[in-house]
Amino acid sequence: MIVSYKCWGVLFFSWITLVATSDLAAQDSIISVTAEKGDGIYSLLRKQGVNPYKYFDDFIALNLNNLRDSTHLYEGRTYKLPPILKLDSLETSPDEITSVHKILYPIFGKKHAETEIKSKRLSGTIYYLVSGHGGPDPGSVTSYANTSISEDEYAYDVTLRLAKELISHGAIVYVIIRDANDGIRDKRILEMDTDEVVYPKEQIPLNHIKRLKQRTEVINKLYLQHSGKYRRLIVTHVDSRSSGQNIDVFFYHHKKSKAGKKLAESIHKTFKEKYKKYQPNREYSGTFSDRNLYLVKNTSPPMAYIEIGNIRNKKDLRRIVYPVNRQALAEWIAEGALLDFEN
Ligand SMILES: [Zn+2]
Repeated sequence: MIVSYKCWGVLFFSWITLVATSDLAAQDSIISVTAEKGDGIYSLLRKQGVNPYKYFDDFIALNLNNLRDSTHLYEGRTYKLPPILKLDSLETSPDEITSVHKILYPIFGKKHAETEIKSKRLSGTIYYLVSGHGGPDPGSVTSYANTSISEDEYAYDVTLRLAKELISHGAIVYVIIRDANDGIRDKRILEMDTDEVVYPKEQIPLNHIKRLKQRTEVINKLYLQHSGKYRRLIVTHVDSRSSGQNIDVFFYHHKKSKAGKKLAESIHKTFKEKYKKYQPNREYSGTFSDRNLYLVKNTSPPMAYIEIGNIRNKKDLRRIVYPVNRQALAEWIAEGALLDFEN
């Protein structure tokens, strides 16, 4: 059981490491700094004038073998600092660094609003992204570090990260469930709140069927407005049915939608390949299949319904609370979406 949890940690972190170091290798002069008493990664970076939110993952990738539980510093040890571009120092205001290739999206929060357009691979595509639950409905609730945490907040964080990825490749993205003041959060505990709305700003009703009907209607209306375009819907939940077992990521699609099936299949395939590459000893048991769920049944766009584990499963929870892991999940889903569009 413990092995399984560790696998996840290693799986995601090793992947991040590979990506980050290949970038960093091209640059020179890595600076080191010693951790003082009480230092965390954030305070250490901040003291060096480095934006901790932006370079948190890079820092972990560089110092992976020198951290306790992958995220804590040892007092008195020396740590490498990621090479920093002058533009990323804390003193620089967002306006100065925004160029043609960088757009500000306030929905991603102050620290993540700036979105770099890396490619035009998804140019002309439209995505509707739905994170499960929201508003008065928190979804599954559990506790972590003596704090109540809920499914909707974690699904939302992954969804925002996914939105940012898709936008960075030129897609137009509608974040259907939205929270004006949350943004992408680089924290383990994502505070519960109830102020999410449905695009553009409709209050979410408590009644289960009314709630699902509301988001379905909004999606279907948008779908009609964009007729003729490549349109896809991605729904994300963190309450997969098979809690208690060895959990993987599950994908669902509409029985009769070939395009939806292909999207779900492409994302599933991407996950399988990532496992094979970064976790060859661990069998991936996630599945993809059709399933008779309200949103699957009643929404118009071809869609993939994704369960990224179950927040009430201890192993899944320990995976999902780490922001680097939520980022990796989002990037894998985006990669699957790219695979679908380009084939
Ligand atoms: Zn759910």
